[in-house]
Amino acid sequence: MISYKDIPIIITGSIFLLILVILLVELLIWIFKSPFQYPYKKIVFDISKKRNPKKEDLIDQYIIENGLSPFSDHFMYVEKWKNICKAKIENGKLKNRRRKQYLASLDDAHMFQFCLERSQTRYRQRNYVKFAYKTKVVVSEFSKDYSYIKRRFDALKAIHFECTLSEYYAKDQRKKMTKALRSEIAKRDNFTCQICGKYMPDGVGLHIDHIIPIAKGGKSVPSNLQVLCSKCNGKKSNTYKDGSKVSDYNS
Ligand SMILES: [Zn+2]
Repeated sequence: MISYKDIPIIITGSIFLLILVILLVELLIWIFKSPFQYPYKKIVFDISKKRNPKKEDLIDQYIIENGLSPFSDHFMYVEKWKNICKAKIENGKLKNRRRKQYLASLDDAHMFQFCLERSQTRYRQRNYVKFAYKTKVVVSEFSKDYSYIKRRFDALKAIHFECTLSEYYAKDQRKKMTKALRSEIAKRDNFTCQICGKYMPDGVGLHIDHIIPIAKGGKSVPSNLQVLCSKCNGKKSNTYKDGSKVSDYNS
């Protein structure tokens, strides 16, 4: 029989037991849960206005706009994080377990996480009225390591960050002579023939010339383009005996 006198003892006992169980669970969590969370870097690309963007082009464009520092800074940060972890392991308890957990958390191959997002317009209906709302949809995700980024940076540096690598090595350089590029070059050269100095503000007789002809491996990039007048362009064309046409007309 339980007497009324025993009730406080039972309650105290149960509370004590409960606290003991909680402490035990916390201890187990502390032992088994890894305290190491690898620091990834996430980079989001908004591809709403691009129909079929290539991953490599997006990365190149990001490097052209931001340089290497967002990546190299993070690489250094990860190295620092590793040293802090190692120091924690050496000075802390459960060395062997912690070391295993640390090694399991390392993931340098996926240091940079790229996410391609597209903004979509969706509709919802309420009381027979249609409402439009925008939402972000993740199209794809992929990851790269630092050496991949560094290699692309070096390759882009070699071509003076003028365009993405796939654009630079595209077979059809003539296709890359877009209207935007033509007007960019015309403006840069102030509508002036770079050989004789003829000024053509109305664009009549203005040619955008490949300094090194496409046929000789020249690229459609600003550093290889210049404004010429018809006369100078004609003279230049004639100097190439293989008959390759070196300029694109601005008609
Ligand atoms: Zn000229």
